[in-house]
Amino acid sequence: MNDITLQLKNVYKSYGGNGIKQEVLKGVDLIVARAEIVYITGPSGSGKSTLLNICGLLDNPDKGEVLIDNQSVNYKKACEIRLKKFSYVFQHHSLIKELNILENVLMVCYIMGLDKEKAITDSKLYLEKVGLINYIYKYPSELSGGERQRVAIARALVKKPEILLLDEPTGDLDVNLKNEIEELIYKLTEQEKITTVIVTHEIERIKKGSKVFKLDDGKLFLTTNN
Ligand code: ADP
Ligand code: MG
Repeated sequence: MNDITLQLKNVYKSYGGNGIKQEVLKGVDLIVARAEIVYITGPSGSGKSTLLNICGLLDNPDKGEVLIDNQSVNYKKACEIRLKKFSYVFQHHSLIKELNILENVLMVCYIMGLDKEKAITDSKLYLEKVGLINYIYKYPSELSGGERQRVAIARALVKKPEILLLDEPTGDLDVNLKNEIEELIYKLTEQEKITTVIVTHEIERIKKGSKVFKLDDGKLFLTTNN
């Protein structure tokens, strides 16, 4: 298969030093094809966030290789590649509290260099897709946890990323809201054909039939959630 968006080859990562080195990733291989949606799971502390950060060029491996679109990453260009190709959604929404919902999404459009009119049209479109078109002049503090995470999703998608990485995106939400937000993430990433990696420790919440990678003792194993 040649249409690979994201690939890790024999990736190692440790933390610490001075004789107390902790090996977190011990030779991880991963292939994610274009427009595929995959999950990474494993217990708390197993290295999921470390692995996702390496996938998203937010951190670099000690050893091994990361390839984006079949090209080995040049870390001098990591910032440029992140801006062009990646979006992230984290457990905590990380919205800017001084900006209203529309401005939070608009900001990304301006960073991407869109003109004002296009930026406003696109931002409203994505806020509509996540069901928040009537909330655009509210501030993050005026929204519920689920609504804030919807804004984070709109903000991630408005830049039309090639790759979307989500780290425990429903970790902060009540059980009934988890379902709703998971459905939304799945629907939108599938619709927009975005290559998506979702990290979660809640294996029981993973969509049936999905491709699931399990992190265990620093190695990654492929399973299917049936
Ligand atoms: P998970 O996301 O699966 O809970 P993490 O990747 O956050 O796991 O962490 C894996 C291990 O690496 C944990 O033991 C954690 O304490 C350690 N760790 C993570 N980030 C750092 C860091 N920046 N410095 C030192 N240790 C870290
Ligand atoms: Mg984590």
